[in-house]
Amino acid sequence: MPKLQRRTILHSAAAMAGLVSAGLPGLSWAAAKIRPDEGSALIVVDVQNCFVTGGTLPVAKGEEVVPVINRLAKGFANVVVTQDWHTPGHASFASSHAGKKPFETTKLSYGTQVLWPDHCVQGSPDAALHKDLDLPRAQVVVRKGYHQKVDSYSAFLEADRKTPTGLGGYLKQRGIKRVFVTGLATDFCVAWTAMDARKLGFEAYVIEDATRAIDLNGSLAAAWKQMGVAGVKRIQSSDIESA
Ligand SMILES: [Zn+2]
Repeated sequence: MPKLQRRTILHSAAAMAGLVSAGLPGLSWAAAKIRPDEGSALIVVDVQNCFVTGGTLPVAKGEEVVPVINRLAKGFANVVVTQDWHTPGHASFASSHAGKKPFETTKLSYGTQVLWPDHCVQGSPDAALHKDLDLPRAQVVVRKGYHQKVDSYSAFLEADRKTPTGLGGYLKQRGIKRVFVTGLATDFCVAWTAMDARKLGFEAYVIEDATRAIDLNGSLAAAWKQMGVAGVKRIQSSDIESA
């Protein structure tokens, strides 16, 4: 090999090594996966008996999120679990409003409320976490929807859009900068949680294949659109580097 050509190749290789080690984009040969760090938290929304097959408000194939979430959770140092946790006779239950049926709407003090079958009543087996969830690293369980007159899809702010659950402060005090939202249901509690995370200044991702939707009157497409506008990133579990 002529000397000049050899030197050029060596020089190029060295330059490339330098650039790669500097982490510049465009030179990697495989799509970069997201690596959860100390500032990342996995939020597991409402994976409870009420929302899976056999529950009081089943989300179609809701139980299928369990193995996906279990696998993801092994890669996160910080895991938060939420539970829908209603009083008996809660304002979000159709049975609490004369003449109303589940999935109709009504006006409550804070605006329009979808009315649901009675579900996730505090302390009931229906409200318990799914028995196959395997989250030994979960550090906090946030219960929501326990004020009789106010629903709470979001893990951060109740449906009056004023009352915090405390999760935002907890995550900030813990130095969490980005959240990865999973669970049930994509178009209600997952979406509201992810969008409120953005409002509170967190980077927010929804891991789509770790969620399942209710999809009531086009609510799933609407939720993805609203999440996109809010800056929530839509990813798959395969985008996360496994532990
Ligand atoms: Zn509920």
